[in-house]
Amino acid sequence: MITIKGLTKKFGDLEVLKGIDLEIEKGKVVVVIGPSGSGKTTLLRCLNILETPTTGEIRIDTQGLDFNTKVIKKEIGAFRKLTGMVFQNYNLFPHKTALENVTEGPIIVKQESKHNAIEKAKLLLSKVGLAEKEDFYPHQLSGGQQQRVGIARALAMEPSVMLFDEPTSALDPELVGEVLRVMKDLANEGMTMVVVTHEMRFAKEAADEVIFIDNGVIVERGKPKELFVQPKEERTKQFLRMIQ
Ligand code: ADP
Repeated sequence: MITIKGLTKKFGDLEVLKGIDLEIEKGKVVVVIGPSGSGKTTLLRCLNILETPTTGEIRIDTQGLDFNTKVIKKEIGAFRKLTGMVFQNYNLFPHKTALENVTEGPIIVKQESKHNAIEKAKLLLSKVGLAEKEDFYPHQLSGGQQQRVGIARALAMEPSVMLFDEPTSALDPELVGEVLRVMKDLANEGMTMVVVTHEMRFAKEAADEVIFIDNGVIVERGKPKELFVQPKEERTKQFLRMIQ
C-alpha cells in the first residue's frame, strides 16, 4: 500500500531524515513514536508532500514519486489526494462552519457538486458524533470537537491513507478520549493509518505496528506487544523508560 525507499530530508545543512525505508500494508495502523525532534512530523509531511523529500521514493497505491529525479508539480497534486492529514492544531478555516470546513475540499479541489459534498459532509459529521454542530464555527467548538471536524474534513477527500500528526497533543486531557475513539473506529473499519502520537495507550490498543524513530532513522519496529514489552535496541529501551 505504502512503500518508502531511501527517503531523506534536509533543511539546509540539517539532515532530518537519514534514509527511511518502510512498507505499510493496506488496512494497517502504524504508530510512529520517538523523541522530540527525531523527524516524526517531517516523515508524515513528506508522505503528504507538504515537505518535498530531498531524495528517495514514495509509492502509495499505484502512484509513485521518485525524488531522486525531478518531480513535476502536477504529479504532486494528484499524489497529495491519496492522503488525508489531521494536524495537531486542527487547522480549520476559522470563518467557515463545521459543515463548510468539510465541504470545502470536495467542492474546490475535487469539483464535486455542492449537493453531494453537503450530503457526504453531513454523514461524516454524524460519524464523528457532531451531527448537531454542523452550523457551528470553530471558536464555538471545544478542541476535541474541532479535531473531530478535522478528521471528518480529511475523510471527505476520500483518501487511501489517513495521516495523524499528534492529533491529541493540543487537547485538554479530558478531551483526548473522544478523538482517540473516533480514530479507533476508523482503524476498526480498515482505514490505513499512520499516526504520530505520544498516546502510548492508543499505540498499545490500536496499532498493528509501532515504529521507533530516533535522529532521523528507524531504530526499531515491531508489534506493540514486542516493542513495548521486549524492545531489542538500547535506544528504544531508553526512550520507553523516559516516557513511562
Ligand atoms: P518531531 O516530529 O520528531 O518532533 P520534526 O520532524 O518536527 O521532529 O523535526 C525534526 C527536526 O527538523 C527538528 O530539529 C526541527 O527543528 C527541524 N525542522 C522541522 N521543520 C523544519 C523546517 N521547516 N525548517 C528547518 N528545520 C526544520
